[in-house]
Amino acid sequence: MSQLKALKHHFDSVLPLPINDKQLKEIVRKAKDWALMHGVAMRSKTTFCEDALQFAPFILVPSPFPRKEFQKAIDIQPTLNEMMHWVAHNPDFLRNCLKDTVAVDEFTGNLFNVYEQILTEGTAQKISLGLLRSDYMAHSDAGNRINQVEINTIASSFAGISSQFPSFNRFVLSELGHLDKLKNLPENHALRGLCEGLLEAWKLYGNPNAVILFIVEEVTYNICDQRFHEFELVRLQPQIEIVRCTLTEIATYATLDSNKKLIVDGKEVAVIYFRAGYEPSHYPSQKEWHARVLMEKSLAIKCPSIQYHLAGTKKVQQVLAKSGALEKFLSESWKVDAVKNIFTGLYSLDFDEHGNKAVQMALDSPERFVLKPQREGGGHNVYGEEVREAVLKMKDKKERTAWILMDRINPPVTSGYMIRPGCPDKPDVVDLVSELGIFGVIIGDSEKIICNRQVGHMLRTKISTANEGGVAAGLGALDSPYLI
Ligand code: ADP
Ligand code: MG
Ligand code: MG
Repeated sequence: MSQLKALKHHFDSVLPLPINDKQLKEIVRKAKDWALMHGVAMRSKTTFCEDALQFAPFILVPSPFPRKEFQKAIDIQPTLNEMMHWVAHNPDFLRNCLKDTVAVDEFTGNLFNVYEQILTEGTAQKISLGLLRSDYMAHSDAGNRINQVEINTIASSFAGISSQFPSFNRFVLSELGHLDKLKNLPENHALRGLCEGLLEAWKLYGNPNAVILFIVEEVTYNICDQRFHEFELVRLQPQIEIVRCTLTEIATYATLDSNKKLIVDGKEVAVIYFRAGYEPSHYPSQKEWHARVLMEKSLAIKCPSIQYHLAGTKKVQQVLAKSGALEKFLSESWKVDAVKNIFTGLYSLDFDEHGNKAVQMALDSPERFVLKPQREGGGHNVYGEEVREAVLKMKDKKERTAWILMDRINPPVTSGYMIRPGCPDKPDVVDLVSELGIFGVIIGDSEKIICNRQVGHMLRTKISTANEGGVAAGLGALDSPYLI
C-alpha cells in the first residue's frame, strides 16, 4: 500500500537519472555559465558586492508538470484578474474582511490606514494597474489537480528571469541529446506581457514625457529580474525613462504639484511600479508611510494601488473561499465554478464558531495544515508540529484573527539536480516539488476593466522536504515546466 502511495505521488524525471559523471560535470559548468551570461542571476546575500552577480539557483533539467493542469491555470487567469479587480473596488467587502485583522496586525493596519485616508480624501487617479501572479501546486491527493497557494498583487517577481528559461531548457536538453523533448517546453513571454501592461498604463496616463517610477528596496538582490523589466520597457518604447527610488527617497524628494502630479527629481511620474513596499522593513519610519500616501493620492497610475495591495492579503483569499463570496464578484456561474475548483480549504481563526472549529482542527492534526500570517515574500508561515504550538499559544489571544489556516497541499515528487552557487561539480539527484506561477495583467477603474490578460508563467522548485522554497532564501530554485 505504501509503495502504491509512493508511486502515485511521483512524477518520472524528464530524463533517466543520474546523468553519468563526466557528462554531468560538463553540462553543469555550461549551464552555470549560460545562466550567468543570460541574467539568470542575482546579487549574493552572503558575499554581497554591488558589482558582482551570482547565477540564481536553478534546476538543471526542467521538472514535469501536467499539461492539462498547466492549461487550466493559464485559462483561469483572466477570471482571477477580474475577480481581484472587483474585490479591490469593493470597500465594504475589504473593510469587513480585514476589520479584525487590522486591529491586531500592525502592518496590515498601516496599509489599511493608507486605504481609509484615500477613501476619505480621494485620489487623483481612478485607474489601477495590476501585475498579478497566481501560484499553484498540483495536489497529489486529488489526482494532481492544481490548488491555488496564493495570489500576489504586489511585486510579483521572476517574470524577467523566467522568460529566459525556455531557451535555457532548450540548450540543456539539446546538449544532452534530447531534441525530441523540446516540443514539450512551453513558450514564456511573461516579461514582455508585464512590460506591455506597464506601457499600456503609461500611455493611458497620456504624457509621453512622464517617467515610470520603480519603487525598490535599499539594496536590490533580485536585480536582474528588475532590470529585465527596465530594459524591456526601453526596448519596446525607446523614449521612455525609468527612475528607481526607495520609499525613503520618495519621502525626501517627491512632491505633488497643484494638479496632483507626482514629481520626482523634476520629472512627472506616469506609473509607479512597486517592487518594494510589501513588508514592514521597507517602512523604517513614519516617513515612508507618508510617502505611500503621497503616491496614492497622486495622478500617477499605481501598480498596485492600495486597494489592490489589500485585495492580495491572505485574509481576503480566505474570505473569498467562503460559500457565496465569489458570486459577489463574478457574474457567470462557470467562472465561479472554475475558481472554486482551484481553491483548497481555507479557514478563519476568528472568535466565532468557524474559527473555534479551525483551532480545534489545527490542534488535532497540525500536519494537515499551513498557518499563515498577513505577510509576503516567503518564510513567514508555520508548518507541521509548530502549527499546534503556535495555535496553542495564540488561541485565547486577539492576534489569532490575523492568521489564517489552510489545507496543506502535497505536490507530487520528482527527481532532479538543483544547482546552487558553490554546489559540487557533480551534484546528487534530489527529490523535488514544484510551484507554478501564472502572470496576469489587469487595468481598470471602479467602473470598468480596460485590459485583462494572461501573459506567462514561472516555476519554482524546492527540495521535497522543505516547507518553503524561496529562491533567494535558500532551498528553492528557478525552473520551468516540462509538460507531460
Ligand atoms: P508568500 O506570500 O510569503 O509567498 P505563500 O502563501 O506563497 O506566502 O507561502 C509561501 C510558501 O509556503 C509557498 O511558496 C509554498 O512553498 C508554501 N505553502 C504555502 N501554502 C501552502 C499550502 N497550502 N500547502 C503547502 N505549501 C504551502
Ligand atoms: Mg505572496
Ligand atoms: Mg508565495
